[in-house]
Amino acid sequence: MIKLTDLTKVYGAQTAVDHLSLEIPAGQIVGLLGPNGAGKSTTLKMITGMLRPTSGTVQVAGYDATTHLMEVKRSLGFVPESGALYESLTGLEYLRMVAALYGIEAEQADVRIQEFIQFFDITWQALGEKILAAYSKGMRRKIVIIAALLHNPPVLLFDEPLDGLDVNAAMGFKTLIQTLAKQGRTIVYSSHILDVVEKVCHRVVIIHQGRLVLDGAPAEVSAQHGGQSLEAVFSKLTGGDVLREKAENFARTFTPGGTEQP
Ligand code: ATP
Repeated sequence: MIKLTDLTKVYGAQTAVDHLSLEIPAGQIVGLLGPNGAGKSTTLKMITGMLRPTSGTVQVAGYDATTHLMEVKRSLGFVPESGALYESLTGLEYLRMVAALYGIEAEQADVRIQEFIQFFDITWQALGEKILAAYSKGMRRKIVIIAALLHNPPVLLFDEPLDGLDVNAAMGFKTLIQTLAKQGRTIVYSSHILDVVEKVCHRVVIIHQGRLVLDGAPAEVSAQHGGQSLEAVFSKLTGGDVLREKAENFARTFTPGGTEQP
């Protein structure tokens, strides 16, 4: 359902994504991991067609993201890490607008919106009375997730989807994506919360400095690294050990009283 071939993105002198090749079949949840600046968001944006690769190709549901952008957009739902919403619309107006853009008929759109807001514990009244600028962070996150799922796409891309969600909403969301995968959706789940990735994802992909450094099922990865946790493997492959030593050395420069030593 997703096929990346030698995907590369260069910004000036910096290569953000470096010859990344990956195939993800239907029904799989893939955790996309990597340290800050590894190239995860850039990769997701290239999959959506929002960003043009410098070289290499992206195929979604058999369509090339450069030559068949509309088909690709129809085939996927994307929850970005952050991004502007139409702040002066109410949640209801916004979701109705998104539904209309996807060609969902008005009556059917309201039925879908109703189902989703019930799932996320939002009332119809709350959805319609406030503009998005006045929503809490978690409410905004829920609206962005609903907007990505409204047209029922076969491919879903999530960038830190749990950010801002309360414990109950996060639990519900995790169950939701596992169910969607069982129904055959393909899901890419980018996150820094490794224990969630370990529990929810069938497969884990780690990128470091734009390059693929690990690809496997969480249990296989652990077995191949002497039973180490995903966190320990991640750290080893992405230079975390060096950072830990640096942090320890830095911490030693502080006295217990909080005064820095000369
Ligand atoms: P994080 O975990 O911090 O969100 P990430 O893995 O999503 O990081 P990207 O946002 O894909 O990383 O960025 C990869 C690299 O590309 C970074 O070094 C970043 O500074 C650079 N980069 C991203 N977007 C641009 C841009 N528009 N112009 C120039 N450089 C960019």
